[in-house]
Amino acid sequence: MGDNSCSHIDEISAVKHAKKRECEECVKIGASWVHLRTCQTCGGTRCCDSSPNKHASKHAHSSSHPVIAYAEPGERWLYCFPDDAFAEY
Ligand SMILES: [Zn+2]
Ligand SMILES: [Zn+2]
Ligand SMILES: [Zn+2]
Repeated sequence: MGDNSCSHIDEISAVKHAKKRECEECVKIGASWVHLRTCQTCGGTRCCDSSPNKHASKHAHSSSHPVIAYAEPGERWLYCFPDDAFAEY
């Protein structure tokens, strides 16, 4: 589905889903979020770039975990930060 080739997304055989529908970092600091993303390396769920704290992309950059899944109902997308690649699953 994505126009960019991305080996990170290709390596994912089973998509990890959010264990809880909340940003684990925002919960600690009492912040709010807009949308949620689930890291496909460690399974942690964090907030998107429309959220004030952008925890998902901060985590991707600081931990070098490249791929997140959109964690909203009905959204079946993976996104790779280093390749800026989307794929539907
Ligand atoms: Zn990639
Ligand atoms: Zn957050
Ligand atoms: Zn991670």
